[in-house]
Amino acid sequence: MSSRKRLTVSCTLSTLCALAAIARADNRATDSYLDESRGRWEQVARQIWDTPELGLGETRSSKALIQILEKEGFQVTRGVGGEATAFVATAGTGAPVIALLAEYDALPGLSQAAGSAKKQAVTDGAPGHGCGHNLLGTASVAAAVAANRERIARKLPGTIQLFGTPAEEILFGKTFMIRDGAFKKTDLVLAWHPDDQNRVTNRTRLAATAVNVEFFGRSAHASAAPWLGRSAFDAMMLFDHAISLMREHIKPTARMHRIIREGGSAPNIIADHTLGEYWLRDITGDSVNEMLGRLKKAADGAALATETRAKVEVTFSVREPVPNDALNAVLQRELERIGPPRFDDADQRFAKAMQKELGFEETGLATAVMPFAQKNGGTASSDIGEVSAVVPLAELNLATRPLGTAAHHWAQTACAAHPLGYKGMAIAAKVLAASTIDVLTDPTAVKTAKEEFVAQTKGKPYVSPLAPGAKPVAPAAH
Ligand SMILES: [Zn+2]
Repeated sequence: MSSRKRLTVSCTLSTLCALAAIARADNRATDSYLDESRGRWEQVARQIWDTPELGLGETRSSKALIQILEKEGFQVTRGVGGEATAFVATAGTGAPVIALLAEYDALPGLSQAAGSAKKQAVTDGAPGHGCGHNLLGTASVAAAVAANRERIARKLPGTIQLFGTPAEEILFGKTFMIRDGAFKKTDLVLAWHPDDQNRVTNRTRLAATAVNVEFFGRSAHASAAPWLGRSAFDAMMLFDHAISLMREHIKPTARMHRIIREGGSAPNIIADHTLGEYWLRDITGDSVNEMLGRLKKAADGAALATETRAKVEVTFSVREPVPNDALNAVLQRELERIGPPRFDDADQRFAKAMQKELGFEETGLATAVMPFAQKNGGTASSDIGEVSAVVPLAELNLATRPLGTAAHHWAQTACAAHPLGYKGMAIAAKVLAASTIDVLTDPTAVKTAKEEFVAQTKGKPYVSPLAPGAKPVAPAAH
């Protein structure tokens, strides 16, 4: 049965469906442009996928997007926030200033063959787009270009900005851009992220703080004179045990995770230095700060017990996003008008093969738009939370991987250069482009979103979590 016939059968008695059909007929100029140029955007997404680059090293990826924007008449400022691969592209003049966010960094070790339902690296140990940021950055740039063409054609007032925001996976790219005033003239921000669902996200991303925990001991020969040594490794083990025990006594919404980056150089040398990276997350920044206080006590306690010295240093911190229901409503309306990605049988077969491989229920891909609801969305943290504390922001998700699968996984890398990923990307671009035009032409929507932002933030000025003089530096292991 054709999709049109199916629609007719299921909608016969419903006035709502009749209204929905009218809405679908309301094809916007930005939709048409994005349909016509679809192949071009898929090529761009594939190009970025083919050359995965880690945070702050996204030279080729940012260059590819900048070239497109400059050709379309955007003025581009590079090296924003002290980050070589950050940029701001601007078109138009005056108010309102509507911005979109493009991310394009990859993750370490997630290389994966395109379209393979089994784990199979292109290059062992190499980075890969396991968060789908090749789709994210491309869709946002496509939306900015589509909306800007429409702005010019209709001689609309206002400015469209595209922020090229690197290093999202190390959670601080945008924070440095904010500190250097990049968002000062921006009225509203619209964003999206690849996902296994089609929805407007709201009140879900977790606040997060990362710390480096170091112990400094005294080296000695582990067999000849161990009594002379004081082990930084012992301190790290004791500290980590304390954190493990603490897990029983934190809120169910909280998360703590870690790796040991340096554990000593050889078993027969008492380690005089160890380093662990610990991340704390919860639904509010206040709760994360409370856990951070307890973590510091555990580090001091472990140092006391082992006669070593502890050092705890915050490496980044992002808050939970400030919700904005006025802007969420704009995204939800456009998402429902445009509808979910139209996955075909081959997409569904691929998704189910991947779910089978992973031992998940073989439910395929999301084929509906979720109704708007509070707490729709995942728990991943993002430096988008920092942007939302500076300027009204709304974000949506589009399905670019099978139901039940998560980002930061080879499954998303495989889908990010597959037709199903491109289908999610195409809908994201359409929703963002149409929503940009909606707010550009509706001063009331802009005013309402800004009033809601002031009410949510209680008019308090933004305070950067960055230490004074902090510089953007990628972790050594990357
Ligand atoms: Zn991501």
